Amino acid sequence: MCFTFLVNICQQGNEDNMQLPSFIEVYRGLISTSSISSSDPSWDEGNQQVIEKLATWLKDVGFDVDVIQAAPGKYNLLAKKGHGEGGLLLAGHSDTVPFDEGRWNFEPHAITEANNRFYGLGTADMKGFFAFIYEAVKKIDWSKQTKPLYILATCDEETSMLGARHFTDNTPIKPDYCIIGEPTSLVPIRAHKGHVANAVRVTGKSGHSSDPALGVNAIEIMHEVLFALMQLRDKLIKEYHHPGFAIPNPTLNLGHIHGGDSANRICGCCELHYDVRPLPGISLDGLSNMLLGALQEVQAKWPGRIEITPLHDPVPGFECNHDHPFVGGMENICQTPSETVNYCTEAPFLSQLCPTLVLGPGSIEQAHQPDEFLAFEFIDPTINILSKSIYQYCFD
Ligand SMILES: [Zn+2]
Repeated sequence: MCFTFLVNICQQGNEDNMQLPSFIEVYRGLISTSSISSSDPSWDEGNQQVIEKLATWLKDVGFDVDVIQAAPGKYNLLAKKGHGEGGLLLAGHSDTVPFDEGRWNFEPHAITEANNRFYGLGTADMKGFFAFIYEAVKKIDWSKQTKPLYILATCDEETSMLGARHFTDNTPIKPDYCIIGEPTSLVPIRAHKGHVANAVRVTGKSGHSSDPALGVNAIEIMHEVLFALMQLRDKLIKEYHHPGFAIPNPTLNLGHIHGGDSANRICGCCELHYDVRPLPGISLDGLSNMLLGALQEVQAKWPGRIEITPLHDPVPGFECNHDHPFVGGMENICQTPSETVNYCTEAPFLSQLCPTLVLGPGSIEQAHQPDEFLAFEFIDPTINILSKSIYQYCFD
């Protein structure tokens, strides 16, 4: 992989297209336009401004651009260049997580170049990816294009994945292949587990601890809930196995519990939060039935006292079959074997349209951290991989 064009890209822009913004101008424009999404309304912003910037840039390089409202203040952008069936979809989310005020050594909403890195919120995860796409498409000779190239920027990936859900449910496009540019250190990711998280709330009846008959102890009922969930966990481990994952089973984690207030009172209320990471292939409906089924007996014993609510919309697992030609094709372009990971992306939704891989610059280690950065060493290889992918899947 070659790095010789780095200085050129960073400082001078593309000499053939002097009127177009340079890589660093686009990158800076994306990062300096805040687009935080959060389930906490005091943090949650729309992404309209960043989508408008992207729309302008992409129109300038010959794309037809559609901006679709997915919810108030929340937009998806779909850009298309070229005609015909199939083609390639390059996708990513335009929102970021909130940042830890006071824990950043750099301005989160700016690009700071230091230590051979670009620091800033979203440099790696992942709206910076659109600057790489932009740089790649500027350099393509489109004269022999035979299939369309699509670019999708979604909203609200960091909260509900609303943008990807909305797009998948409504789009008429049928690309052949999709690449999602989440930070994978340029390793093609062919599968990840899903994520389901629920709260179980047990409502008992408080009373003086000297007479247990005065109340209903919520901690004791929770004990039965925990036992049932741990039995389900063992069943999941026994029944499901995927050799492609380092942790080859679904996991069930009891992550948070709170109940009661003092030793001399019967506990009136107890709440548990747990999560499950299902393997690809386990349906959300099937999993939901198993989770509800596991607590059926305890619920029947304590009618009206056990309430189960989701902590977020569930995300299924995702897999592009290891034998699929797209996996081999992208392994070849990246010169790296594909892998599986344990974090979630929009792939379970977009892969309903076509075979999908997750592949992008920067490391997931830097995502959702203070001083998020993207190392310079990713710049040229990323543009190179994107160019090769476009020539491979949009040209005969
Ligand atoms: Zn991300």
